[in-house]
Amino acid sequence: MTTIIDGKIVAQSIRDALVPRIKLLKQKGVTPGLAAVLVGSDPASETYVSSKAIACEKLGIYSEVIRNPPSYSQNELIKLIEELNSNSKINGILVQSPLPKQIDEPTITTHISPDKDVDGFHPYNVGLMLIGRGRLLPCTPNGIIKLLEYYKIDPQGKEAVVVGRSNIVGKPVAVLLMQKGKMANATVTVAHSQTGNVAEVCKRADILIAAIGRPNTITADMVKKGAVIIDVGVNRIEDPGSEKGYRLVGDVNFEGCRKVASFITPVPGGVGPMTIAMLMSNTVTAAEDFVLRK
Ligand code: NAP
Repeated sequence: MTTIIDGKIVAQSIRDALVPRIKLLKQKGVTPGLAAVLVGSDPASETYVSSKAIACEKLGIYSEVIRNPPSYSQNELIKLIEELNSNSKINGILVQSPLPKQIDEPTITTHISPDKDVDGFHPYNVGLMLIGRGRLLPCTPNGIIKLLEYYKIDPQGKEAVVVGRSNIVGKPVAVLLMQKGKMANATVTVAHSQTGNVAEVCKRADILIAAIGRPNTITADMVKKGAVIIDVGVNRIEDPGSEKGYRLVGDVNFEGCRKVASFITPVPGGVGPMTIAMLMSNTVTAAEDFVLRK
């Protein structure tokens, strides 16, 4: 029997656990606040930012969406971030990617105060995560750990294979899984486009995490029987039969792999819902830290 991991249920449990923490903060006179900054009018970014604002509203988190024209300069964006850094109503700052080409994303990340870096991408927070002292952890990787935890899949002593080495998913999830500690202690291999035999490496995995961005890259013949499969990929493929003309699929061939796996995440509805829940969680954590520093 294969269990289909339900990210919506786990994300709801994360949000439920935030309710008493938010209540306590409000009793102390602090409403957690998130600022989402958009540059340009990418439709997918608009959708992401709107769903983040709705999630905030439902939880009683204050949110601001700051929209800027596509011609917005890097210096203007840095100035805006510096204002948000010193705005006491704002505990978390999120700059939605992709940014237009005149703006260098890593430079922008370094200007966000590490205390308000709810994406967990600031080099200071990445460093803390690497040494096992992270507080604001990157949302999608940490969401994956929470999915495993909810389904009582302890990585300890297991072979974990992460396919993909991006700074936002592959590398951080590998780091979290290899830490010495709870819901970690795995033996981790990271595969990427230059890996000699990806299929052979994947076949070793007790926990296989696909963060590739290419549909159907992981097929059933690459999966060990009984493996746990976490599919991070979100890919649009043409589907003339659907209303929108496309549908979303992951990096894993779901129908084939579900026959071999013990647990598997669907796309959509697996990892996706966790990302926003962890963003809410980081915003509350940042607000709690703000209260402690006051
Ligand atoms: P990315 O920056 O494009 O990284 C993709 C990684 O996959 C790279 O390391 C690349 O190797 C590797 N790769 C590409 N083709 C490969 C192949 N054939 N075999 C093995 N490795 C291969 O992507 P990302 O930002 O990590 O995102 C990955 C996917 O996750 C995307 O579909 C994205 O939309 C999705 N995503 C979902 C969420 C969510 O909330 N659910 C959040 C973030 C991302 P090289 O390094 O050698 O190029």
